[in-house]
Amino acid sequence: MQIKEPVKILGVPVHPLTMDESVAVLETKLVHKEQAFVVTANAEIIMMCQKDKEYNTIVSEQADLVLPDGAGAVWAGRYLGYNIPERVAGFDLYNRLLQLSATKGYKAYFFGGAPGVAEAAKNKAEELYPGVKIVGCRNGFFKDSEEDTIIQDINTAAPDMLFVALGAPKQEKWLIKNREKLQAKILMGIGGSFDVLAGKMERAPKWMQDSSLEWAFRLYKQPSRFMRMLALPKFVLKVLFSHK
Ligand code: UDP
Repeated sequence: MQIKEPVKILGVPVHPLTMDESVAVLETKLVHKEQAFVVTANAEIIMMCQKDKEYNTIVSEQADLVLPDGAGAVWAGRYLGYNIPERVAGFDLYNRLLQLSATKGYKAYFFGGAPGVAEAAKNKAEELYPGVKIVGCRNGFFKDSEEDTIIQDINTAAPDMLFVALGAPKQEKWLIKNREKLQAKILMGIGGSFDVLAGKMERAPKWMQDSSLEWAFRLYKQPSRFMRMLALPKFVLKVLFSHK
């Protein structure tokens, strides 16, 4: 399947795909045994790209698929006049790929999160998606000297899909740095998704997700995110002013 041309939000290319199209693109990559590095770009990530040159190069030039995650990214794309069909949230795409693993037998590896969280997410995934193949887990707290062993363990488990939950931008930087050593085909950073799947962190109720209010729920649950979340209003202003 052909990937649609990306649209640019504050200079960051974003592919205007639906969730179904995104899954189809990634399944094609798996079938052809081609590597695909996926970024689900929310407003915070797009703002990080404005300040961090290295991260901008990773997202804008090295990622194969950049998807519109979050109400902010979808709003900005539409405000700038592009046809963004829907939001493709990282957590939802991760779940769809686990479903694909259950139906088609693709193997997944969970890397990241506090000790025990990836294992708890694996147990939950096995309950939700009977037949899902999760071939290994490893927490996300490690020394540089442990990196080679981590990569070796991942390759020995031979996953088709590698989910990395170290938070942005760390997860994307880690994936790009090690991309050539990793044999997995789908490489995707998923932030706090293991925490959510494992039930350590609650996701906003569906009505809040549908009303573009997921950010408010996250702020309510984790007030410590306040400073980070200031990126959101700054993002909105930057988009409004970029379009005068
Ligand atoms: N994390 C990790 N190693 C680190 C830093 C963070 O494994 O060195 C994990 C952390 O435990 C959490 C996730 O990365 O599970 C980051 O979640 P957050 O919600 O901050 O990510 P976001 O989705 O906002 O990028």
